[in-house]
Amino acid sequence: QAKLVGPGSVQFYSSQLQQDFNRRQQIESGLRAAVAHDRLTVYLQPQFTRNEQDDALTCVGFEALLRWYDPQLGPVSPGEFIPVAETSGLMPQLHQVVLAKAVAAIERLHSHPNYSGCSIAINISASQFNDAGFYQQFERLVEQNPAAKYLELELTESMLISDADRVAAVMDELTHLGLSLSLDDFGTGYSALSYLKRLPLKQLKIDQSFVRDLLSDRNDEAIIATIVALAKSLGLQVLAEGVEEPSQLERLREMGCTRYQGFLLGHPEPLEHWLKQ
Ligand code: C2E
Ligand code: MG
Ligand code: MG
Ligand code: MG
Repeated sequence: QAKLVGPGSVQFYSSQLQQDFNRRQQIESGLRAAVAHDRLTVYLQPQFTRNEQDDALTCVGFEALLRWYDPQLGPVSPGEFIPVAETSGLMPQLHQVVLAKAVAAIERLHSHPNYSGCSIAINISASQFNDAGFYQQFERLVEQNPAAKYLELELTESMLISDADRVAAVMDELTHLGLSLSLDDFGTGYSALSYLKRLPLKQLKIDQSFVRDLLSDRNDEAIIATIVALAKSLGLQVLAEGVEEPSQLERLREMGCTRYQGFLLGHPEPLEHWLKQ
């Protein structure tokens, strides 16, 4: 219905803005209601490691991913609602939901023979990490429930840029509690390579955008090879995200990457799904 010339195109543009604005409003009020009525859920996507001896894959943990089904809007993806939560101050509430569900899930998983010792990774957004009480909440959580030590925090490169000393200090304290830290979407941000060696990281997660065309794009292959070498020389684990094809898995194995996550190996599913395995 966009007109090609004249004021009509301006009209279209502003009504598009209006639509975006309305959608954001709906998401924001929907999210508030979802928090209040406990309508947010967490799905778990498995992460695997390859055994040196027999080449078999073992599940070592899960990533907790928020899922939201709104009665009016239907399913809304985290890619859409997380940015709205960020700008409307709802991120702390969402974080609490994920934290509570993740810790409860750890206890349930550990009672299952396949998943003893499994970790659960949660995604941390920059605003939370900069929160004054960020460390203390984990300290309290671990005191209340030792299962919280099996939490792994996924941070992004952008968090490492500002105030590197404070970030490093907080990260040290978190690892002393027993939590582990992993760098998500690695390679897509400003790689603060000089900081990497100072930070108590356990793992780099190769962003799925590099894995997607690994077999056909020499640049992606070169980037992955570089990340794997970097991780090795820093003594870090390296996990490839977004593994969808057996050929990608095989190539990653040849390149020395031994940890994987992706639709080929398991989609994000509710806890109950994994407990039935
Ligand atoms: P992420 O942390 O990089 O999570 C991985 C995303 O890739 C997930 O999307 C997952 O479903 C998807 N994925 C996994 N395997 C494959 C694959 O083989 N192929 C493809 N194409 N995709 C795959 P999802 O669940 O839509 O989440 C998107 C992003 O939203 C996450 O990216 C994360 O940054 C953010 N997010 C999700 N849950 C939370 C949360 O609880 N807190 C925060 N702060 N962010 C979250
Ligand atoms: Mg993640
Ligand atoms: Mg990622
Ligand atoms: Mg991502």
